[in-house]
Amino acid sequence: MVGSGPGGLAFARVLHRHGHPVTVLERDPGPDARPPGGTLDLQEGMGQLALDKAGLLPGFRALSRPEGQAMRILDPDGTVLRDWRPRPDDRANPEIDRGHLRDLLLGPLDVRWGRNVTRVVPGAREGAVVHCADGRQETFDLVVGADGAWSRTRPSVSSATPHYTGVTYVESSLDDVDDRHPGLARLIGDGSVAVYGVNRALVAQRNSGGHVKVYAQFRAPLDWHAGLDLADAEAVRSSLLKRFDGWADPVLDLLRHTTAFVHRPLYVLPVSHTWSHVPGVTLLGDAAHLMPPLGAGANLAMLEGAELAEAIATGDGDLDGAVRAFEVRMWERAGRWASITAAGLERLVSPDPAEALAVFDHVQPS
Ligand SMILES: Cc1cc2nc3c(=O)[nH]c(=O)nc-3n(C[C@H](O)[C@H](O)[C@H](O)COP(=O)(O)OP(=O)(O)OC[C@H]3O[C@@H](n4cnc5c(N)ncnc54)[C@H](O)[C@@H]3O)c2cc1C
Repeated sequence: MVGSGPGGLAFARVLHRHGHPVTVLERDPGPDARPPGGTLDLQEGMGQLALDKAGLLPGFRALSRPEGQAMRILDPDGTVLRDWRPRPDDRANPEIDRGHLRDLLLGPLDVRWGRNVTRVVPGAREGAVVHCADGRQETFDLVVGADGAWSRTRPSVSSATPHYTGVTYVESSLDDVDDRHPGLARLIGDGSVAVYGVNRALVAQRNSGGHVKVYAQFRAPLDWHAGLDLADAEAVRSSLLKRFDGWADPVLDLLRHTTAFVHRPLYVLPVSHTWSHVPGVTLLGDAAHLMPPLGAGANLAMLEGAELAEAIATGDGDLDGAVRAFEVRMWERAGRWASITAAGLERLVSPDPAEALAVFDHVQPS
Protein backbone atom coordinates (compact mmCIF):
# COMPACT_ATOMS: atom_id res chain seq x y z
CA MET A 1 0.00 0.00 0.00
CA VAL A 2 1.39 3.41 -0.98
CA GLY A 3 -0.15 6.27 1.04
CA SER A 4 -1.78 6.53 4.46
CA GLY A 5 -4.73 8.76 3.57
CA PRO A 6 -8.30 7.61 4.27
CA GLY A 7 -8.23 5.14 1.35
CA GLY A 8 -4.90 3.52 2.16
CA LEU A 9 -5.65 3.21 5.85
CA ALA A 10 -9.13 1.74 5.25
CA PHE A 11 -7.55 -0.89 2.98
CA ALA A 12 -4.81 -1.71 5.47
CA ARG A 13 -7.13 -1.79 8.46
CA VAL A 14 -9.64 -4.19 6.88
CA LEU A 15 -6.83 -6.52 5.77
CA HIS A 16 -5.37 -6.32 9.27
CA ARG A 17 -8.77 -7.21 10.75
CA HIS A 18 -8.79 -10.35 8.60
CA GLY A 19 -5.28 -11.27 9.75
CA HIS A 20 -3.56 -10.51 6.44
CA PRO A 21 -0.12 -8.87 6.39
CA VAL A 22 0.03 -5.44 4.77
CA THR A 23 2.83 -2.88 4.42
CA VAL A 24 1.94 0.82 4.35
CA LEU A 25 4.56 3.15 2.84
CA GLU A 26 3.95 6.84 3.61
CA ARG A 27 5.97 9.85 2.46
CA ASP A 28 5.22 11.99 5.55
CA PRO A 29 7.84 11.52 8.29
CA GLY A 30 5.11 10.92 10.90
CA PRO A 31 1.36 11.12 11.50
CA ASP A 32 1.54 14.74 12.73
CA ALA A 33 4.08 15.98 10.19
CA ARG A 34 1.57 18.40 8.64
CA PRO A 35 -1.85 19.77 9.60
CA PRO A 36 -4.40 17.05 8.80
CA GLY A 37 -6.84 19.40 6.95
CA GLY A 38 -10.52 20.18 7.43
CA THR A 39 -13.50 18.16 8.52
CA LEU A 40 -14.92 15.28 6.43
CA ASP A 41 -18.51 14.19 6.20
CA LEU A 42 -18.76 10.43 5.99
CA GLN A 43 -21.86 9.06 4.32
CA GLU A 44 -23.82 6.10 5.63
CA GLY A 45 -23.43 3.83 2.59
CA MET A 46 -19.82 4.82 1.84
CA GLY A 47 -17.30 6.04 4.42
CA GLN A 48 -19.35 4.68 7.31
CA LEU A 49 -19.77 1.33 5.53
CA ALA A 50 -15.99 1.16 5.14
CA LEU A 51 -15.53 1.81 8.85
CA ASP A 52 -18.06 -0.91 9.60
CA LYS A 53 -16.03 -3.36 7.51
CA ALA A 54 -13.01 -2.36 9.62
CA GLY A 55 -14.97 -2.86 12.87
CA LEU A 56 -14.62 0.86 13.63
CA LEU A 57 -18.19 2.15 13.50
CA PRO A 58 -18.57 2.48 17.30
CA GLY A 59 -15.31 4.45 17.41
CA PHE A 60 -16.57 6.69 14.63
CA ARG A 61 -19.88 7.31 16.41
CA ALA A 62 -17.97 8.39 19.52
CA LEU A 63 -15.78 10.84 17.60
CA SER A 64 -18.07 12.21 14.91
CA ARG A 65 -20.34 15.25 15.06
CA PRO A 66 -23.88 14.62 13.73
CA GLU A 67 -24.73 18.25 14.56
CA GLY A 68 -22.01 19.24 12.06
CA GLN A 69 -24.46 18.36 9.27
CA ALA A 70 -26.16 21.73 9.89
CA MET A 71 -25.92 24.03 6.87
CA ARG A 72 -26.76 27.70 6.51
CA ILE A 73 -26.75 29.54 3.19
CA LEU A 74 -26.48 33.31 2.94
CA ASP A 75 -26.43 35.71 0.07
CA PRO A 76 -23.57 38.20 -0.12
CA ASP A 77 -25.56 40.91 1.68
CA GLY A 78 -25.84 38.58 4.68
CA THR A 79 -29.50 37.53 4.22
CA VAL A 80 -30.09 33.97 5.43
CA LEU A 81 -31.57 32.00 2.52
CA ARG A 82 -31.57 28.49 4.03
CA ASP A 83 -30.94 27.17 7.54
CA TRP A 84 -30.96 23.36 7.74
CA ARG A 85 -30.49 21.58 11.04
CA PRO A 86 -30.25 17.81 11.32
CA ARG A 87 -32.66 15.82 13.47
CA PRO A 88 -30.95 14.60 16.69
CA ASP A 89 -31.01 11.00 15.35
CA ASP A 90 -29.73 11.91 11.86
CA ARG A 91 -26.62 9.82 11.16
CA ALA A 92 -26.59 10.20 7.35
CA ASN A 93 -23.44 12.36 7.00
CA PRO A 94 -21.84 13.18 10.37
CA GLU A 95 -18.64 15.19 10.29
CA ILE A 96 -15.31 14.00 11.70
CA ASP A 97 -11.98 15.82 11.99
CA ARG A 98 -9.45 14.31 9.61
CA GLY A 99 -6.96 13.88 12.44
CA HIS A 100 -9.49 11.92 14.50
CA LEU A 101 -10.33 9.72 11.51
CA ARG A 102 -6.66 9.06 10.78
CA ASP A 103 -5.96 8.07 14.41
CA LEU A 104 -9.02 5.81 14.46
CA LEU A 105 -7.90 4.04 11.28
CA LEU A 106 -4.24 3.88 12.27
CA GLY A 107 -4.89 1.98 15.51
CA PRO A 108 -2.46 -0.96 15.55
CA LEU A 109 -1.21 -0.49 11.96
CA ASP A 110 2.51 -0.36 11.47
CA VAL A 111 3.05 2.44 8.92
CA ARG A 112 6.54 2.91 7.49
CA TRP A 113 6.79 6.70 7.71
CA GLY A 114 9.21 8.74 5.62
CA ARG A 115 9.06 6.39 2.60
CA ASN A 116 8.78 8.65 -0.43
CA VAL A 117 7.84 6.33 -3.29
CA THR A 118 9.25 7.61 -6.58
CA ARG A 119 8.01 4.88 -8.94
CA VAL A 120 6.41 1.48 -9.14
CA VAL A 121 7.58 -1.01 -11.76
CA PRO A 122 5.15 -3.83 -12.57
CA GLY A 123 6.10 -7.05 -14.24
CA ALA A 124 8.42 -8.57 -11.66
CA ARG A 125 7.66 -12.28 -11.38
CA GLU A 126 6.11 -11.92 -7.92
CA GLY A 127 4.28 -8.64 -8.43
CA ALA A 128 5.74 -5.13 -8.63
CA VAL A 129 8.83 -3.31 -7.41
CA VAL A 130 8.49 -0.13 -5.36
CA HIS A 131 11.34 2.40 -5.58
CA CYS A 132 11.81 5.01 -2.85
CA ALA A 133 13.65 8.34 -2.93
CA ASP A 134 16.23 7.04 -0.44
CA GLY A 135 17.27 4.32 -2.91
CA ARG A 136 15.41 1.45 -1.23
CA GLN A 137 13.59 -1.06 -3.46
CA GLU A 138 11.12 -3.69 -2.38
CA THR A 139 8.99 -6.23 -4.25
CA PHE A 140 5.35 -6.87 -3.30
CA ASP A 141 2.78 -9.31 -4.68
CA LEU A 142 0.36 -6.37 -5.09
CA VAL A 143 1.04 -2.63 -4.91
CA VAL A 144 -2.04 -0.48 -4.24
CA GLY A 145 -1.47 3.18 -5.04
CA ALA A 146 -3.55 5.27 -2.64
CA ASP A 147 -1.08 8.12 -2.89
CA GLY A 148 -3.50 10.86 -3.81
CA ALA A 149 -3.80 13.47 -6.55
CA TRP A 150 -0.16 13.45 -7.63
CA SER A 151 0.27 9.69 -7.31
CA ARG A 152 3.67 8.24 -8.14
CA THR A 153 2.05 4.83 -8.57
CA ARG A 154 -0.37 6.00 -11.28
CA PRO A 155 2.16 6.25 -14.15
CA SER A 156 2.71 2.48 -13.92
CA VAL A 157 -0.87 1.90 -15.12
CA SER A 158 -2.02 5.12 -16.78
CA SER A 159 -0.65 8.21 -18.51
CA ALA A 160 -3.51 10.42 -17.22
CA THR A 161 -2.57 13.56 -15.29
CA PRO A 162 -4.81 15.98 -13.35
CA HIS A 163 -5.91 19.23 -14.99
CA TYR A 164 -7.00 22.51 -13.40
CA THR A 165 -10.78 23.02 -13.12
CA GLY A 166 -10.64 26.82 -13.28
CA VAL A 167 -11.69 27.02 -9.62
CA THR A 168 -9.32 27.81 -6.76
CA TYR A 169 -9.82 27.44 -3.02
CA VAL A 170 -7.82 29.54 -0.58
CA GLU A 171 -8.05 27.85 2.82
CA SER A 172 -7.67 29.57 6.15
CA SER A 173 -8.60 28.95 9.81
CA LEU A 174 -10.10 30.44 12.94
CA ASP A 175 -9.22 29.08 16.38
CA ASP A 176 -11.27 29.22 19.61
CA VAL A 177 -14.06 30.72 17.56
CA ASP A 178 -16.64 30.58 20.37
CA ASP A 179 -14.49 32.61 22.77
CA ARG A 180 -12.56 34.81 20.37
CA HIS A 181 -15.15 35.48 17.65
CA PRO A 182 -18.62 34.86 19.13
CA GLY A 183 -20.33 36.73 16.26
CA LEU A 184 -18.71 34.46 13.68
CA ALA A 185 -19.45 31.41 15.86
CA ARG A 186 -23.16 32.32 15.71
CA LEU A 187 -22.97 32.88 11.95
CA ILE A 188 -21.34 29.47 11.39
CA GLY A 189 -23.57 27.60 13.83
CA ASP A 190 -22.89 23.91 14.56
CA GLY A 191 -21.95 22.99 11.00
CA SER A 192 -21.23 25.08 7.91
CA VAL A 193 -22.14 28.42 6.46
CA ALA A 194 -21.87 29.09 2.73
CA VAL A 195 -22.25 32.39 0.91
CA TYR A 196 -22.61 32.28 -2.87
CA GLY A 197 -21.94 35.20 -5.21
CA VAL A 198 -21.07 35.54 -8.88
CA ASN A 199 -18.26 33.07 -9.67
CA ARG A 200 -17.19 33.09 -6.03
CA ALA A 201 -18.16 31.72 -2.64
CA LEU A 202 -17.10 31.82 0.99
CA VAL A 203 -17.59 28.65 3.01
CA ALA A 204 -16.80 28.11 6.70
CA GLN A 205 -16.92 24.71 8.37
CA ARG A 206 -16.75 24.03 12.06
CA ASN A 207 -14.27 21.34 13.20
CA SER A 208 -14.11 20.16 16.81
CA GLY A 209 -12.57 22.25 19.60
CA GLY A 210 -13.76 25.61 18.25
CA HIS A 211 -11.58 25.28 15.13
CA VAL A 212 -13.08 26.55 11.86
CA LYS A 213 -11.83 26.15 8.30
CA VAL A 214 -12.70 28.97 5.92
CA TYR A 215 -12.53 28.52 2.15
CA ALA A 216 -12.55 31.41 -0.29
CA GLN A 217 -13.60 29.80 -3.59
CA PHE A 218 -13.46 31.53 -6.95
CA ARG A 219 -13.00 31.10 -10.69
CA ALA A 220 -9.61 32.40 -11.75
CA PRO A 221 -6.69 31.51 -14.01
CA LEU A 222 -4.09 29.34 -12.35
CA ASP A 223 -1.70 32.29 -12.14
CA TRP A 224 -4.25 34.60 -10.41
CA HIS A 225 -1.67 35.22 -7.66
CA ALA A 226 1.10 36.45 -9.96
CA GLY A 227 2.96 39.18 -8.07
CA LEU A 228 1.40 38.16 -4.75
CA ASP A 229 3.50 36.47 -2.06
CA LEU A 230 1.25 33.61 -0.93
CA ALA A 231 3.25 33.32 2.30
CA ASP A 232 2.39 36.92 3.19
CA ALA A 233 -0.95 36.49 5.02
CA GLU A 234 -1.78 40.20 5.04
CA ALA A 235 -1.14 40.53 1.30
CA VAL A 236 -3.34 37.49 0.56
CA ARG A 237 -6.05 38.78 2.91
CA SER A 238 -6.13 42.15 1.20
CA SER A 239 -6.24 40.51 -2.25
CA LEU A 240 -9.17 38.30 -1.15
CA LEU A 241 -11.03 41.20 0.44
CA LYS A 242 -10.79 43.04 -2.90
CA ARG A 243 -12.08 39.97 -4.70
CA PHE A 244 -15.11 39.82 -2.36
CA ASP A 245 -15.57 43.60 -2.34
CA GLY A 246 -19.15 44.70 -1.63
CA TRP A 247 -20.07 41.65 0.47
CA ALA A 248 -21.60 42.28 3.90
CA ASP A 249 -19.23 43.01 6.79
CA PRO A 250 -20.25 40.03 8.98
CA VAL A 251 -19.46 37.75 6.02
CA LEU A 252 -16.13 39.39 5.24
CA ASP A 253 -15.16 39.01 8.91
CA LEU A 254 -14.60 35.36 7.97
CA LEU A 255 -11.58 36.58 6.00
CA ARG A 256 -10.55 39.42 8.32
CA HIS A 257 -9.92 37.23 11.37
CA THR A 258 -8.37 34.10 9.89
CA THR A 259 -4.71 33.09 10.16
CA ALA A 260 -2.36 31.82 7.41
CA PHE A 261 -3.74 31.08 3.93
CA VAL A 262 -3.18 27.87 1.95
CA HIS A 263 -3.54 27.94 -1.84
CA ARG A 264 -5.55 24.97 -3.16
CA PRO A 265 -6.25 25.17 -6.89
CA LEU A 266 -8.72 22.38 -7.70
CA TYR A 267 -7.42 19.74 -10.10
CA VAL A 268 -9.30 16.73 -11.43
CA LEU A 269 -8.56 13.60 -13.42
CA PRO A 270 -10.65 13.01 -16.55
CA VAL A 271 -14.18 11.85 -15.68
CA SER A 272 -14.38 8.05 -16.08
CA HIS A 273 -10.61 7.55 -15.92
CA THR A 274 -9.84 3.84 -16.47
CA TRP A 275 -6.81 1.88 -17.59
CA SER A 276 -5.89 -1.51 -19.01
CA HIS A 277 -5.43 -3.84 -16.08
CA VAL A 278 -1.80 -4.30 -15.04
CA PRO A 279 -1.10 -7.39 -12.89
CA GLY A 280 0.54 -6.51 -9.59
CA VAL A 281 -0.56 -2.85 -9.41
CA THR A 282 -3.81 -0.97 -8.88
CA LEU A 283 -5.00 2.44 -7.71
CA LEU A 284 -7.77 3.68 -5.49
CA GLY A 285 -9.08 6.99 -4.15
CA ASP A 286 -7.81 10.30 -5.53
CA ALA A 287 -4.96 8.51 -7.31
CA ALA A 288 -7.58 6.77 -9.46
CA HIS A 289 -10.31 9.41 -9.75
CA LEU A 290 -9.43 12.86 -8.40
CA MET A 291 -12.63 14.93 -8.49
CA PRO A 292 -13.93 18.23 -7.09
CA PRO A 293 -14.10 18.18 -3.26
CA LEU A 294 -17.85 17.95 -2.88
CA GLY A 295 -18.20 15.31 -0.19
CA ALA A 296 -17.39 12.16 -2.18
CA GLY A 297 -13.58 11.76 -2.43
CA ALA A 298 -12.72 10.42 1.02
CA ASN A 299 -15.93 8.38 1.12
CA LEU A 300 -15.09 6.67 -2.16
CA ALA A 301 -11.44 6.14 -1.22
CA MET A 302 -12.41 4.47 2.06
CA LEU A 303 -15.13 2.30 0.55
CA GLU A 304 -12.81 1.18 -2.23
CA GLY A 305 -10.03 0.40 0.24
CA ALA A 306 -12.38 -1.63 2.44
CA GLU A 307 -13.97 -3.48 -0.49
CA LEU A 308 -10.65 -4.40 -2.11
CA ALA A 309 -9.27 -5.61 1.21
CA GLU A 310 -12.37 -7.68 1.90
CA ALA A 311 -12.31 -9.20 -1.58
CA ILE A 312 -8.66 -10.20 -1.12
CA ALA A 313 -9.14 -11.52 2.40
CA THR A 314 -12.31 -13.51 1.80
CA GLY A 315 -11.70 -14.57 -1.82
CA ASP A 316 -10.54 -17.91 -3.24
CA GLY A 317 -6.87 -16.88 -3.42
CA ASP A 318 -7.07 -15.48 -6.96
CA LEU A 319 -5.48 -12.12 -6.14
CA ASP A 320 -5.39 -10.86 -9.72
CA GLY A 321 -9.03 -11.84 -10.29
CA ALA A 322 -10.07 -9.97 -7.13
CA VAL A 323 -8.23 -6.84 -8.29
CA ARG A 324 -9.75 -6.98 -11.79
CA ALA A 325 -13.29 -7.27 -10.38
CA PHE A 326 -12.58 -4.44 -7.93
CA GLU A 327 -11.36 -2.13 -10.69
CA VAL A 328 -14.49 -2.61 -12.80
CA ARG A 329 -16.71 -1.82 -9.82
CA MET A 330 -14.59 1.19 -8.79
CA TRP A 331 -14.55 2.68 -12.30
CA GLU A 332 -18.31 2.43 -12.64
CA ARG A 333 -19.10 4.02 -9.27
CA ALA A 334 -16.33 6.65 -9.37
CA GLY A 335 -17.29 7.64 -12.93
CA ARG A 336 -20.80 8.42 -11.72
CA TRP A 337 -19.49 10.52 -8.83
CA ALA A 338 -16.96 12.30 -11.02
CA SER A 339 -19.79 13.44 -13.31
CA ILE A 340 -21.97 14.53 -10.38
CA THR A 341 -19.20 16.49 -8.67
CA ALA A 342 -17.97 18.10 -11.92
CA ALA A 343 -21.50 19.34 -12.61
CA GLY A 344 -21.83 20.37 -8.95
CA LEU A 345 -18.70 22.51 -9.08
CA GLU A 346 -19.93 24.26 -12.24
CA ARG A 347 -23.15 25.20 -10.42
CA LEU A 348 -21.69 26.06 -7.01
CA VAL A 349 -19.06 28.46 -8.32
CA SER A 350 -21.05 29.88 -11.19
CA PRO A 351 -22.12 33.15 -12.80
CA ASP A 352 -25.60 32.55 -11.36
CA PRO A 353 -25.64 32.13 -7.56
CA ALA A 354 -29.24 30.82 -7.76
CA GLU A 355 -27.70 27.67 -9.27
CA ALA A 356 -25.81 27.03 -6.03
CA LEU A 357 -28.99 27.30 -4.02
CA ALA A 358 -30.72 24.91 -6.40
CA VAL A 359 -27.95 22.33 -5.81
CA PHE A 360 -28.58 22.41 -2.07
CA ASP A 361 -32.37 22.38 -2.47
CA HIS A 362 -31.95 19.23 -4.55
CA VAL A 363 -29.65 17.49 -2.03
CA GLN A 364 -31.47 18.69 1.05
CA PRO A 365 -35.10 19.54 0.32
CA SER A 366 -36.70 21.41 3.21
C1 LIG B 1 -11.17 21.32 1.03
C2 LIG B 1 -11.52 19.87 0.84
C3 LIG B 1 -12.64 19.34 1.49
C4 LIG B 1 -13.00 18.01 1.30
N1 LIG B 1 -14.10 17.51 1.96
C5 LIG B 1 -14.46 16.21 1.76
C6 LIG B 1 -15.59 15.64 2.45
O1 LIG B 1 -16.27 16.29 3.26
N2 LIG B 1 -15.91 14.33 2.19
C7 LIG B 1 -15.17 13.58 1.31
O2 LIG B 1 -15.52 12.41 1.10
N3 LIG B 1 -14.08 14.07 0.69
C8 LIG B 1 -13.71 15.37 0.88
N4 LIG B 1 -12.60 15.87 0.26
C9 LIG B 1 -11.81 14.99 -0.64
C10 LIG B 1 -10.87 14.13 0.16
O3 LIG B 1 -10.02 14.92 0.96
C11 LIG B 1 -10.01 13.26 -0.76
O4 LIG B 1 -10.78 12.74 -1.79
C12 LIG B 1 -9.40 12.11 0.07
O5 LIG B 1 -8.50 12.62 1.03
C13 LIG B 1 -8.70 11.11 -0.84
O6 LIG B 1 -8.13 10.10 -0.04
P1 LIG B 1 -6.91 9.24 -0.56
O7 LIG B 1 -6.63 8.27 0.53
O8 LIG B 1 -7.22 8.73 -1.91
O9 LIG B 1 -5.72 10.28 -0.77
P2 LIG B 1 -5.06 11.34 0.20
O10 LIG B 1 -5.97 11.73 1.31
O11 LIG B 1 -4.53 12.43 -0.68
O12 LIG B 1 -3.84 10.56 0.84
C14 LIG B 1 -2.71 10.25 0.08
C15 LIG B 1 -1.57 9.85 1.01
O13 LIG B 1 -0.49 9.40 0.23
C16 LIG B 1 0.71 10.01 0.68
N5 LIG B 1 1.62 10.09 -0.47
C17 LIG B 1 1.53 10.92 -1.54
N6 LIG B 1 2.55 10.71 -2.38
C18 LIG B 1 3.31 9.73 -1.84
C19 LIG B 1 4.50 9.09 -2.24
N7 LIG B 1 5.13 9.44 -3.38
N8 LIG B 1 5.01 8.10 -1.45
C20 LIG B 1 4.36 7.73 -0.28
N9 LIG B 1 3.24 8.33 0.15
C21 LIG B 1 2.71 9.31 -0.61
C22 LIG B 1 0.27 11.38 1.17
O14 LIG B 1 1.22 11.95 2.07
C23 LIG B 1 -1.06 11.03 1.84
O15 LIG B 1 -0.88 10.62 3.18
C24 LIG B 1 -12.21 17.19 0.44
C25 LIG B 1 -11.07 17.72 -0.18
C26 LIG B 1 -10.72 19.05 0.01
C27 LIG B 1 -9.49 19.61 -0.69
